[in-house]
Amino acid sequence: MNRVCPICTNLEKTLLYQQNFNKNADISLMEKYDVVVCNKCGFVFADSVPSPDIFDNYYAAMSKYEFNYKDGVVPEEHIKHFTKIADFITPHLKNKNVKILDIGCSTGGLLSILKSKGYLNLLGIDPSSSCVNAVKKLYGIEAMVNNISNFNSNEKFDLIILSAVLEHLVDFESSMCKIRSLLSDSGMLFIEVPDAERFDLYISAPFQQFSVEHINYFSQYSIENLFSVFSFEMLDLKVNENKSNPSIDPDIFVLGKKTENKDVAISKDDISVGKIKNYINESAKIDFKIKKLLEEKLSDKDKIIVWGVGTHTQRLIGAGMEISKILYFVDSNIRYIGKQLNGIEIKSPQNIKEEVPILISTHSFQKEIIHQIREILKLNNEIIKLYQ
Ligand SMILES: [Zn+2]
Repeated sequence: MNRVCPICTNLEKTLLYQQNFNKNADISLMEKYDVVVCNKCGFVFADSVPSPDIFDNYYAAMSKYEFNYKDGVVPEEHIKHFTKIADFITPHLKNKNVKILDIGCSTGGLLSILKSKGYLNLLGIDPSSSCVNAVKKLYGIEAMVNNISNFNSNEKFDLIILSAVLEHLVDFESSMCKIRSLLSDSGMLFIEVPDAERFDLYISAPFQQFSVEHINYFSQYSIENLFSVFSFEMLDLKVNENKSNPSIDPDIFVLGKKTENKDVAISKDDISVGKIKNYINESAKIDFKIKKLLEEKLSDKDKIIVWGVGTHTQRLIGAGMEISKILYFVDSNIRYIGKQLNGIEIKSPQNIKEEVPILISTHSFQKEIIHQIREILKLNNEIIKLYQ
């Protein structure tokens, strides 16, 4: 579907880049999308994307977020990240009895930190039932399978949390109106989103910020416009480094308060477009080197196993990687196993039997995967790396 600007609803936009994925009905959401900038407010977003119901089904079926946790043990970097968020929010909360709703709560990491700080009126919703079960089982916090569009409540909340959610949404109008209706008078909204204004300073794999799932690229200026359109007042803002993945990503924390002020003042964000163009140019340079490296490394190989089927691999195939050399794919996410990418099977790491070279198709998890191959699976297969 073609999108109007999700912030200011303007129709005119300018194409910045076309992101190509590999289309496969089994595990991929889409073949490609256009990264565009709104000519009126300067918001950068992905255009020509699937409709919201297709995304809803995808998140319910393909959630990878429950696998961030091994045996219920939350990695230390995640705890640090959630603690930073809680420390940002809690000085603004008037007492420990405030009602808090975390939309897209994943396995409940942030809610658990709030609980440990004495906040007990907590509810999490998430489209994935495994995530919801984890919240209940790991922390004894109330949670239910749901999403913003279908969730309804007679109770009003004093704080709604949208951590790593807005960058995924096709349409803000219905979600932001729903959030307003769920908030008490002067209720607060916390938002955490990747900071598009700093994408160019933190490039891991090229174009990785334009992932299959991230279709909105916020800056602090576009958040201000979003708040203005939906009548929120900015209370606090913090630029942050998210270190909960092996690659560091820039993000922003924002806290807003619901108001009844209906005056909409849009100020054009002139900063984001330049920063994103820079990110695109820098990514293109790295991408060129990686494709050359891949060609060299595969030139004398008959067959390879490719580890990873996410955005990184789908982009490599979209860019013309020779798929006839791929014996099969491997991925740790059990949702992918048994499915296919380009008609080629996706197996679990435990099922690697052949001693053919393994291409590691990820930047962030390269080190972890090498460790898994050598130390856990005890395999001697040649390893093909694309990053230092
Ligand atoms: Zn706009």
